[in-house]
Amino acid sequence: MSEKPIDTLSGAILAGLSCRCPRCARGKLFQGFLTLRPRCDACGLDYSFADAGDGPAVFIMFFAGFIVVGAALITEVLYQPPFWVHAVLWLPLIIIVTIGPLRPMKGLMIALQYYHKAAEGRFSAGKP
Ligand SMILES: [Zn+2]
Repeated sequence: MSEKPIDTLSGAILAGLSCRCPRCARGKLFQGFLTLRPRCDACGLDYSFADAGDGPAVFIMFFAGFIVVGAALITEVLYQPPFWVHAVLWLPLIIIVTIGPLRPMKGLMIALQYYHKAAEGRFSAGKP
């Protein structure tokens, strides 16, 4: 990896999807499954700015719903299998398509938040 900070959108997206620091792409972003580290191990970036909120879960719900419900409907229309077949097929798929991309999606949203310098709106004190 290079020593210079990430300055392209594609670099920020790659760093986010690989769950790396959005500034240097070397330090790890998470210390648990979804818990952020306090700061980057490599460059010292303070991660307190990062607040992905419900964003990753919402995108994954849309993605997972499209895949699982679509596959279940197609299977039902074409084969009319018994309900236990639906349970055996779709319960594991639901777990795979929701838990699997959650961490990279949270990393991506934090990286994009850092890249675009997104933050909560603040009122200026007496200045127009
Ligand atoms: Zn870093």
